[in-house]
Amino acid sequence: MARPGPRARGGGRSRRRPRGVRARTARRVGAGLDARGALRPRAAARSGQALGRRAPDPRAAAQEQRAGEGGRGRLRARRNVQRRGRRARRRRVLPERRIRRARYRDGPPRPAERGARIRRRPPAGDGDDRVQEAARADGSAGRHARHRPQGAAGAAASRAVNGYGGRLLFVDLTTGASRVEPLAESAARALLGGNGLAARILYDRVPAGVDAFDPANAVVFAVGPVTDTTVPGNSRALVAAKSPLTGLFFDSTFGGRFPATLKRTGFDAVCVTGRAAAPSYLVVTEDGAVVKPAAALWGRTTRDTVTALVAAEGADADAIAIGPAGEHRVRFAAMAHYWKNREGVSGRGGIGAVLGSKNLKAVVVRGARKTAVADAPALKALLEETREPLATGTKALSTYGTPFLVGPINALGALGAFNLKTEVFAAARVIGGEDMKAHYHERDTTCLKCPVACGKQYAIGAGEFAGRRAKMPEYETIFALGPMLGIDNPEALILANDLCDLLGMDTISMGVTLAFLCEALERGWLTPAEVGVPFGWGDWRGMLRLVEMTAAREGFGERLAEGAWRLAASVRPGATNLVYAVKRLELPAHSARALKGLSIGYATATRGGSHHDTRPTPQYAPTFDRRGTKDKPAFAMRSQHFTALGDSLVLCRFTSERGFGLFVGEPYARMVRAVTGWNVTAEELERVGERIVNLERLFNVREGVRRADDTLPWRVMHEPIPEGPSAGMHCPPAELAEMLDVYYGLRGWDADGVPTGARLAALGL
Ligand code: SF4
Repeated sequence: MARPGPRARGGGRSRRRPRGVRARTARRVGAGLDARGALRPRAAARSGQALGRRAPDPRAAAQEQRAGEGGRGRLRARRNVQRRGRRARRRRVLPERRIRRARYRDGPPRPAERGARIRRRPPAGDGDDRVQEAARADGSAGRHARHRPQGAAGAAASRAVNGYGGRLLFVDLTTGASRVEPLAESAARALLGGNGLAARILYDRVPAGVDAFDPANAVVFAVGPVTDTTVPGNSRALVAAKSPLTGLFFDSTFGGRFPATLKRTGFDAVCVTGRAAAPSYLVVTEDGAVVKPAAALWGRTTRDTVTALVAAEGADADAIAIGPAGEHRVRFAAMAHYWKNREGVSGRGGIGAVLGSKNLKAVVVRGARKTAVADAPALKALLEETREPLATGTKALSTYGTPFLVGPINALGALGAFNLKTEVFAAARVIGGEDMKAHYHERDTTCLKCPVACGKQYAIGAGEFAGRRAKMPEYETIFALGPMLGIDNPEALILANDLCDLLGMDTISMGVTLAFLCEALERGWLTPAEVGVPFGWGDWRGMLRLVEMTAAREGFGERLAEGAWRLAASVRPGATNLVYAVKRLELPAHSARALKGLSIGYATATRGGSHHDTRPTPQYAPTFDRRGTKDKPAFAMRSQHFTALGDSLVLCRFTSERGFGLFVGEPYARMVRAVTGWNVTAEELERVGERIVNLERLFNVREGVRRADDTLPWRVMHEPIPEGPSAGMHCPPAELAEMLDVYYGLRGWDADGVPTGARLAALGL
């Protein structure tokens, strides 16, 4: 990435563009984009309408006020408002033809809903910062009522289309104000939910060039039409923000029970902006939002926080919280939700640090609305047909959890180790699924209503850590904190994973950052005295201590908390060559060298080094040609549409891939038809995925991302894998350039990776 330092507001890349790029930019301006790829003011104003936003018109309000009581002035003001409303409807950005507007079973939302204010509790007395018992503002039966049909929630029950709550909640922590906006059916059909809604909201409302820790950054929690239905893996939510690690659009999903409960509030998305004056937490119910003091929770772990909040708010409430790392703005801080013995961790991209910058310790949700499904028999028939492939495809996951991948991927010679100096790890067996299960498995855990139960609770029975219980480390965690550091102690991995979850940090970024540190120490670029803790390859005790120091930004932890790229850049010129990251996001456990579909996939991913943009799963099939490059740009593009669609429905990737297919196809169209009643085709859903990818790209283009940023780690491009079944594989710059040309061409983007006006118009953007 060619952005060594923090970008000034508005970016500066456009001033250095060559002439040809300027000419293309001029054509984009004609399509409604300014020189940096941002929507021009008029277009930006229109874009707010895409979500059915009814922004208050201050001029009309003032005019009405001037008109006083009664009289022709007030009539004139009302007509002006109506005229402006008609003009605004004509200017909607997203295509609306042949799509009906949102309908409400009980009539449109009452004005009080749209302008609802957060009821702030008066500050507690001196020293009284205990978590307060929530007022049952919705008058619900609390823990006795998990489900209530839509339309039965009194005045708060606005109804849109099947599969949706039909409402968006916007909360400004600085002013304490909140408001509810209806979700237009046209926007729902164009973006579906989750990922799509969040991309639209962030694009429209987060100013270009703003720092991720600026109060103007937004954190969006969103669900989709499939959330809280009967589809396996439906209790999944998405959270998105501008990332403090990449400075770009970022989204991450998590499971447990929180997603279904968020859906039951009747809000399809909750957007949080601003910064609270003091540590706070947010409670979202069917009636809106309440901000409560959280000083007593500040400094506590994610699990302690969630436990305390559920005790305070009721067992029917669910919470997701940041830990000390988020409070200290560690750039890869995560957030975690606990339900029964299941964790839902939104790990990547540092969104936990964004919440910390907003003084927001946690979000609590409680609701009882039932998601309406248009054609329940059709959905049931689809689920019957997919039951068998789902059960077969998830057998290893159900038995061992994701650590089952360690063995096969190591056997492929594609398990990164020692900061990627090799991709074969001799001790893979003892940290793999089978051995871990044999020694530590205590019980299975699952997200709400999921038959797969891929989660495992481990217990250590003997030795130094006897009696410790913790969640199973996922495959990604094992890779980053194990082989990448040369660590083969399974108990150290269980403890490190637990520590990262409790402190609220992404295990992948943590491990890859420490892997760079190991190599920097080995090369003498850093000294043990600088680090302050004995550390090196295989030193798991040092690893555990550095994890703690990172979360607290203590000592050398201050530098680790910045992530691998910034740490390397601070060490010496050229040190970033040894960082396994794309767009400053540390890469996960699926090889960028041994899987050519991921070479182009990582390079072009919106998030950077994420395996949830282009998927590795199809590439492990024995019939898949993982070495050839010819068809990989098309593969990456289709896979990115698939993930954008899945994260918009919102569905667990494990159940969707194994039950309904690895790409957008007819099973997904049947699912959406059954849930929403829309007559959608697989082609329409493919376009939805493409639309969302383009929206994310527009966000990143506005931040200055161009072709030069669509690159791979230096080691991936210049050092072939030295040994094993994938020996010799890498992705030289010329090979990547060739794939990028094809990829941009397929996408309808220009040679610098900027979406063309023609393609955006075709997508209704
Ligand atoms: S497959 Fe695993 S992660 Fe996915 S919904 Fe089921 S239990 Fe949760």
